[in-house]
Amino acid sequence: MQNTNAVVVVLGTGGTIAGTSAPGGDERLYQAAQLTVGQLLQAVPGLPPGLECEQVAQVDSKDMTHGVWHRLVARLGQHLARPEVAGIVVTHGTDTLEETAWFLQRVLAPAKPVVLTAAMRPATAAAPDGPGNLRDAVTVALDAGARGVVAAMAGSVFAARDVRKAHTSKLDAFDGGDAGPLGAVMDGKVTWLREPPSDEPLGAAHLPPDVAAWPRVDLVVSHAGVDGAVVDALRAIGAKGIVAVGTGSGTLHEAMQRSLHEAQAAGVTVWRATRCARGEVAERPGDFPGAGDLTPPKARIELMLALMGRS
Ligand code: ASP
Repeated sequence: MQNTNAVVVVLGTGGTIAGTSAPGGDERLYQAAQLTVGQLLQAVPGLPPGLECEQVAQVDSKDMTHGVWHRLVARLGQHLARPEVAGIVVTHGTDTLEETAWFLQRVLAPAKPVVLTAAMRPATAAAPDGPGNLRDAVTVALDAGARGVVAAMAGSVFAARDVRKAHTSKLDAFDGGDAGPLGAVMDGKVTWLREPPSDEPLGAAHLPPDVAAWPRVDLVVSHAGVDGAVVDALRAIGAKGIVAVGTGSGTLHEAMQRSLHEAQAAGVTVWRATRCARGEVAERPGDFPGAGDLTPPKARIELMLALMGRS
């Protein structure tokens, strides 16, 4: 069921959805983050009335920063508090969409829907996928069953916890891991397969106002031939947390593990994630805590927020 007479705010952050290539040139050689969110909306026929838009950032999302996230949290907080706003759409690049989605869900876990969408082809492509994805995202934002941060891509709706970029180039580049999609959106209608999950939000007030003060958390990867040099270097530059991306169920090369134990003894919080695309990290007595089924970039966010929550 769709909310009627409601406002949807569309926040632009850049990405391929706002990308352009030279007229007549190779569409693979495009520049992301060129068109404004207002221009993107103009290219979508048949949108409902009551849309507002605002440009929050203009970045290729491979270059996403904590500063943009902080700004997004502030703008979302302001618009979500407006009674006439039914939901919010955020246009984004595909590369770090899953990170922004999880960050926003863990900080805000809003009762209203915040729908991230993106495109695999630039706006100037012969057959761009952005306009359809944007229209679907507005449909989800107006749906009475929607809540929290979700992603709408290529006809599927994913929960922030589950969504991940799973293919480098296909139009349906995203999947929801073992959990799969939350629902589907087609012809202006959302079909839910399960309830959007609720998460306990950290609250925007916990974010240090200066992003330079956010705890530094890095990812290191366990692999054949690895040693502890990267872990030692991270400890030396003052990392507060390290997520060690392990093999299989979260096992770590012994050479790296030694340095991780030394880092932990020096006050660095160490968690484990996995290089595998599916499945959970196994908890083992005496080992570093596992990040469950969170992908490594989401585990990094989770640890960063956990460290903020402790301060
Ligand atoms: N590099 C682009 C970005 O993430 C890729 C995309 O949007 O598909 O902004």
